[in-house]
Amino acid sequence: MSVSTVAADPSVCAPLPVLGRDVTVPLVTGGEVTYAALDYAASAPALQRVWDDVAAYAPYYGSVHRGAGYLSQLSTDLFENARRTVSEFLGCRDGDQVVFTRSTTDSLNLLAEALPAGCQVFVFETEHHASLLPWRNAQVTYLDAPRSPRQAVETLERALADREPHGPALVCVTGASNVTGELWPVRELAAAAHAHGARIVLDAAQLAPHHPVSVADLDVDWVAFSGHKLYAPFGSGVLAGRADWLREAEPYLAGGGASRKVARRTDGGVDVEWHETAARHEAGSPNVIGAYSIASACAALTEAGFDQLVAREQYLIEKVRAGLAEVPEVRILSLFGDDAPRVGVLSFVVEGWNSSHFAAALSAEYGIGVRDGLFCAHPLLRTLLGSDPQTQGECGAPEAAPGEKSLNAIRVSFGAGT
Ligand code: PLP
Repeated sequence: MSVSTVAADPSVCAPLPVLGRDVTVPLVTGGEVTYAALDYAASAPALQRVWDDVAAYAPYYGSVHRGAGYLSQLSTDLFENARRTVSEFLGCRDGDQVVFTRSTTDSLNLLAEALPAGCQVFVFETEHHASLLPWRNAQVTYLDAPRSPRQAVETLERALADREPHGPALVCVTGASNVTGELWPVRELAAAAHAHGARIVLDAAQLAPHHPVSVADLDVDWVAFSGHKLYAPFGSGVLAGRADWLREAEPYLAGGGASRKVARRTDGGVDVEWHETAARHEAGSPNVIGAYSIASACAALTEAGFDQLVAREQYLIEKVRAGLAEVPEVRILSLFGDDAPRVGVLSFVVEGWNSSHFAAALSAEYGIGVRDGLFCAHPLLRTLLGSDPQTQGECGAPEAAPGEKSLNAIRVSFGAGT
């Protein structure tokens, strides 16, 4: 089996400049090669534009919401403008809140902490662990893996129809799988949730970098995504959507910035009035560079034209899919069928190869960086591989002898910089 490089169709738009595009790496065979980063689904390289914006702002940054000086005022404005940019990027409704978090995982944990009492949660077993696991304080119904988008909607409808109709309920669903790249029927799932009096949060960690997301058009109640997958640096994320549950919940973190008024009581205790804005869940000095870089990435993607970027990515992933489909030893992993629409993310196994060794060989012999493992989605991998994946760590790859049957999978993923 040989590996050939994929040339991008010049008729589709050019990739956006990203950091590290020209990094060279050594090969085991001697010499070196320009690194091909094909692991955008894990963390995308930051856009050069984002880096430039951050570098231009860095000398001027100051404390946010807590300084009278010019630079503090400037930083506060930039921080709040970043919130507005993200709100526009996500097509939020009037009254929606944009909370800056650390990541998608953080955003979903925040929402899990904000659930009203007695809230039931519905989540497909196929979700990334970040969507599957945060609901520890709720009664969770895990839904079986659907084998088509239609079956996903039907499964959810059945589960919601069976629930006690009165209390609050939340559905958590991914927009695009981090394993198969397949698109989920978000609009239809949102309609099903609302028809049964439930709310829905969209895990857009993989969708937002590859596809326009509109909270209002999709009619989802919340959306969560991570900056480091959307071509911004690590350390920042977003939870955006309905204000009511967030406003009524205890602050995710307690501390300065979240509180409007704190006073000693005569009995010696302390009374606190918490903010009712996004600040309620952003206690402490915020990650202003993180928020600023997410906003910069949103602006860059919008200006470049998402449609063209998506078209380019689709061209690349289809080339890879078609090429892999011709290799008899390769099995592409999919829930909804090989031809199902997907973002630029695709996983496969190679018969007779241990996936970790295969991925290591791609790196060592060709300078191609992909991901192997279980992708923090163990139940999904079990369904897709048809066997118990052997885990050795949360997201990592299992150990297996050379030539041993694949115990995990290989993932290749594209983005705006490929
Ligand atoms: N959801 C999906 C679909 C993901 O792919 C990931 C990360 O791979 C996450 C959530 C978690 O994102 P983060 O690690 O940035 O919190």
